[in-house]
Amino acid sequence: MRIGYGYDIHRLVVGRPLVLGGVTIPCEVGLEGHSDADCLTHALADSIFGALALPDIGHWFPNTDPSIRGIDSRRILEKAVHEAHLRGWVIGNVDCVVIAERPRIGAFLDAMKTSLSATMGIRPDQVGVKATTNEKVGDIGKGLAIAAHATCLLIRSE
Ligand code: MG
Repeated sequence: MRIGYGYDIHRLVVGRPLVLGGVTIPCEVGLEGHSDADCLTHALADSIFGALALPDIGHWFPNTDPSIRGIDSRRILEKAVHEAHLRGWVIGNVDCVVIAERPRIGAFLDAMKTSLSATMGIRPDQVGVKATTNEKVGDIGKGLAIAAHATCLLIRSE
């Protein structure tokens, strides 16, 4: 088995869609970034790259590459899973935490599990997605950004 860990944070700005775990959430602000800025999916992809001891997503999808501007981050997660499969690993389970003061995302967690599991080709019961606020502390607590942490367990494919 191999374990991996990933973290990401993006700023909340006016005029962008809010995408988390591949799910578009109605909100007056969205995440800023070169891609769709889905910090949950980025953290998860990085956990898989980390478990493989590979470079992080900035290596595979550099934010200086204009050809991937606005890319759907599910393509990034698919790439991470593909690299795992190439090396003889499958995903045992993943677990994630999203830290968001606004909006409240609890109602969307099941949709994120469904979306992320479909993107990774695993079952929803292999995907943990949890949400917390930052208790109004710091910039996340002021609603200026959303962060995500993720862990994954890879197991040898038969
Ligand atoms: Mg990111």
